[in-house]
Amino acid sequence: MALIEIRNLTKSFGNLKAVDDISLDIESGEFITLLGPSGSGKTTVLRMIAGFEDPDAGLIKLNGEDITHLPPFDRDVNTVFQDYALFPHMSVQENVEYGLRTRKVPKAERAKQAIAAIASVKLEETVDRLPHQLSGGQRQRIALARALVLRPRVLLLDEPLGALDRQLREEMQVELKKIQRDAGITFVFVTHDQEEAMRMSDRIVVFNSGRIEQVGTPEQVYEEPRTNFVAGFLGTANIFTADMASKLLGTSSTVSIRPERIRLQALGTKIDKSETSIVGTIHEAAFVGANTIYIIETEFGMKLTVRKTNTELLGQDDSFVAGDQVMAVWRNSHVAQIPV
Ligand code: ATP
Repeated sequence: MALIEIRNLTKSFGNLKAVDDISLDIESGEFITLLGPSGSGKTTVLRMIAGFEDPDAGLIKLNGEDITHLPPFDRDVNTVFQDYALFPHMSVQENVEYGLRTRKVPKAERAKQAIAAIASVKLEETVDRLPHQLSGGQRQRIALARALVLRPRVLLLDEPLGALDRQLREEMQVELKKIQRDAGITFVFVTHDQEEAMRMSDRIVVFNSGRIEQVGTPEQVYEEPRTNFVAGFLGTANIFTADMASKLLGTSSTVSIRPERIRLQALGTKIDKSETSIVGTIHEAAFVGANTIYIIETEFGMKLTVRKTNTELLGQDDSFVAGDQVMAVWRNSHVAQIPV
């Protein structure tokens, strides 16, 4: 039995169906991420699991118990919001102890558990400080400690790293994942950042317009996208519609090829039997540090994006420039069929 079972969950705001008949099982101990563009319904699903939003229809079970309409404090779940919501007048330790105090945990035990939780986010030295004496990343870690100290079965995290700068965000991604693994708590994480989702999650749930497009491991949703939307939302995809595929590739279904799986060769050079090539003109070549991104214009107006890893210094390999005619080549086995 899954730890959380969601069945046919629906929620409208006025005429807008924010969440449209979704069903999902979340396993115990898993790090699952709800990923999708702004307004796709992720937060509304999280808020319904937390009990802050009442569904119009459907069912949510936690550990076999129907919690669909229970108030938030009667559910064994905790939420960490993007804005931290620490009490400004309380010290770090008092903030972390707060939930234990409302549960009437005795003082000494409370302090012990709070300090252990603060240590788990590596901020022991800040116990006596007020929230405004912490950096954004430190405040975020304290918000996490405050939720972890209650040992919930499930921790719900709504874009908790959204306000952090890139470097801190990446450090926290690694840290959060480690804390989740060590504590064995089920994390349901909301983000619109594809890389963040892939980096941290056991499974990703891709949302679009209130519906689930696909559920799978990061590898599955990247390598075997079930819809055009998923192919385009996770990384960049060159999508050949059925019509383009039949004109250019001689196949009849919609397919996708990732930019990093295409290489460029000079016209007339050899390719293997297991490969396909099409001829095009380089419209743009953009150096972006580790990679160079090429936009190739091919027949019938089809544009291809090609990503080359810059393993050599600039100018020391057979790099192509805008205006060159080239062959774009890929292995047939690297083409993903898009079923929907
Ligand atoms: P974001 O990444 O921007 O937070 P999201 O995928 O989490 O987006 P939701 O916050 O779930 O999306 O919102 C889904 C849709 O429901 C949006 O169109 C939003 O404007 C609408 N919505 C959410 N909450 C309310 C509300 N309380 N009243 C009216 N409309 C709402």
